[in-house]
Amino acid sequence: MFSIEQKTAKTMQKFSMLRHSDKVAIAVSGGKDSLALLYILKKFFNEHARTELIAITIDEGIAGYREESLQIVRDFCSRIQVKSKISSYAEIFGLDMDQATQNRPSEKTTSCSMCGTFRRRIMDIMAESLGANVLATAHNLDDHLQTFFINVLSGDLERIGWMYPEPVQYGPNGLKKVKPFVEIYEHEIVFYALLRNIPFQSDQCPYMKESIRTDIREFLNNLESSHAGVKYNAFNTLTKISKALKGSAIDGLPTHTECRICRRRSTQRICSVCGTLKVLTNPH
Ligand SMILES: [Zn+2]
Repeated sequence: MFSIEQKTAKTMQKFSMLRHSDKVAIAVSGGKDSLALLYILKKFFNEHARTELIAITIDEGIAGYREESLQIVRDFCSRIQVKSKISSYAEIFGLDMDQATQNRPSEKTTSCSMCGTFRRRIMDIMAESLGANVLATAHNLDDHLQTFFINVLSGDLERIGWMYPEPVQYGPNGLKKVKPFVEIYEHEIVFYALLRNIPFQSDQCPYMKESIRTDIREFLNNLESSHAGVKYNAFNTLTKISKALKGSAIDGLPTHTECRICRRRSTQRICSVCGTLKVLTNPH
């Protein structure tokens, strides 16, 4: 067994990510991380006769970018015999990312922030509609660290509290979100995907340059190359901080209510998805 498979199993156990009766939806983009996670979970599930694993894929509607990866996902899922479902922003929200980018009031609203808002919601909707009680994503240690620094820089304490890898159930159907790769470095996944002959899309999203994540990624990789081990230390620090923050009553944290439009859990009267859609559909 490859060490990444052992490490993933250990992480899932350590943070109580899965139980035998779980029905797992896994978000698969067609990139190396999500295909590698799909491959590993399928392998585990075969060994331990778990109930069900379904790959869910999102078509954001980014011309010239998404088509290739959709085909990769379809082919890979049929190769390893996993059910797959594709859904699009256009179908669920009535507009795609290219339109959203055109309609946004200014470039201050980055494509990545809109896309992230929509992506989180559509994954919930898809997992719920499939009757899944677990949503697995392939966020790795590098992604997780970047998110931490983004939250630090935007002053978002609540989101740091959400980052502790032990899943909490939320939403009407008690969906659990798990990140089995949270202790795996990005470079380990690249190596594994190559060894296992896992095909993946290597083209980057055309909107990627708009994201602060790209700068933070570069910053952390530069630091790591001159000070080996800093990423792992930072990961341990963030895990301790998020554990302490999780569920704690901190002054200034917003309380949860229900969105007036979609009725989902929200910290504001209108949730971020409905708020974003409102701005994009009435641009002027
Ligand atoms: Zn809403």
